[in-house]
Amino acid sequence: MSSTVWRNWSRIESVTPARVAYPGSPDEVVQAIAAARADGLRVKPIGAGHSFTGIAVAPGVQLDLRNLQGVLAVDEQRHRVKLAAGTHLYRLPELLKPYGLALQNMGDIDAQTIAGATSTGTHGTGHAFGGLATQIVAVTLATADGGTLEISENSNPELLDAARLGLGALGVLLDITVQCVPAFQLQAVEKPEPLAEVLAQWEQRGTGADHFEFYWFPHTQTALAKTNTRLPMDAPRKPLGGFQRWLDDDLMSNTVFNWVCHLGKAVPALTPPINRLAQRLTNNREFTDVSTSVFTTKREVRFREMEYALPREEVPDVLRALDRLINQNGWRISFPVEVRVAAPDDIWLSTAHGRETGYVAIHRFFKEDPHTYFRLAEQIFRAHGGRPHWGKMHYQDASTLAPTYPRFGDFLAVRDKLDPERVFANDYLDRVLGA
Ligand SMILES: Cc1cc2nc3c(=O)[nH]c(=O)nc-3n(C[C@H](O)[C@H](O)[C@H](O)COP(=O)(O)OP(=O)(O)OC[C@H]3O[C@@H](n4cnc5c(N)ncnc54)[C@H](O)[C@@H]3O)c2cc1C
Repeated sequence: MSSTVWRNWSRIESVTPARVAYPGSPDEVVQAIAAARADGLRVKPIGAGHSFTGIAVAPGVQLDLRNLQGVLAVDEQRHRVKLAAGTHLYRLPELLKPYGLALQNMGDIDAQTIAGATSTGTHGTGHAFGGLATQIVAVTLATADGGTLEISENSNPELLDAARLGLGALGVLLDITVQCVPAFQLQAVEKPEPLAEVLAQWEQRGTGADHFEFYWFPHTQTALAKTNTRLPMDAPRKPLGGFQRWLDDDLMSNTVFNWVCHLGKAVPALTPPINRLAQRLTNNREFTDVSTSVFTTKREVRFREMEYALPREEVPDVLRALDRLINQNGWRISFPVEVRVAAPDDIWLSTAHGRETGYVAIHRFFKEDPHTYFRLAEQIFRAHGGRPHWGKMHYQDASTLAPTYPRFGDFLAVRDKLDPERVFANDYLDRVLGA
């Protein structure tokens, strides 16, 4: 099928694929891979295009999996749900409701597909919880040799820690089995606090709640702390009123914030006072709602993002260093810095592999050049042992990434075995994994 230009969400990557295929079944995925190989083209499945890196760029055959969505099987006893790989996360509340199940943890948005999100190591926050890939117990992969491979605790189990966070480098995920949990609610407490205090008490704050995170607006000394506590479904529900949600999440966080970003770009000197005002207008708010409504929000103002996973204890020093960097350079940064935590895991390319992790994410409005800020911030992150999120901007390559992942060589060996001719490669993968 002929194709037009594809752009990622943040508008920093684009490509016109040689052709786009919309397979409607696993067999059609296998056929699309065979047809691409016959034509000497590479293959790249895409999700929702929400990665900030070129990881989903498909100059050859772009596989759009929009027709592979939905629940394929449910193990009600073990709370396991097998999903077609192209299923968008925003469909999960409706799909899981009949079984009374939910994802154990989620990131900030639900626009992604399950396959796209797990392939780059998408995560939320919570010192006792891992990223999405840790919740995946089985996958089926369409491979470069024209076959399919089941990977689970019973079938090729040695490949699970490569395949559930595979950067799209090992094949095309056809289905994904998720270990869900009984549906639950979250009690959210959101309030501004002095940044210095949050940093001084970082270990207690990061580990003292089920899900803790905070946002820091550069040019202020205030952190917006968000503390979510897990509650059963039968606990009293106190959702935000429709008007309050619209005011906070639509009008303030999207519409007004969009104007503010445009204003800050036109007149950078206004950014510090605007940030101070934004932080003063930030509501103290408390509510209880079903988990997805609390974990995720809408993000309509486009931006570019870099996020590094750090040894958790490094977070306060990194934040102080970022504050100094911004002040020394006189930059005006309108977007907040987001700080989260995660549990260690064993997944080979997980940014939380083998260590208690703190995540620090920096952002720039999409109409501003992010590179100078991001490059210098990256030096700070790397000096503190950071690993970049695979789906967010960074400037590293395989030679600098390999030493930070004890199982990097094992991942490359699996890639060599499953995709020796690099059918699933693209420029980004050549850079971060080697050609
Ligand atoms: C506004 C916004 C908020 C975000 N919030 C968070 C957050 O809170 N936490 C976080 O960790 N990240 C976050 N991200 C990053 C995002 O979760 C990741 O980049 C994620 O990979 C995007 O999923 P996607 O479906 O858009 O995949 P894409 O970006 O389209 O693709 C990502 C990778 O998955 C591969 N892929 C897709 N489908 C398949 C398949 N079937 N088989 C094999 N490989 C496949 C692609 O080839 C590519 O390599 C955010 C991004 C944005 C834009």
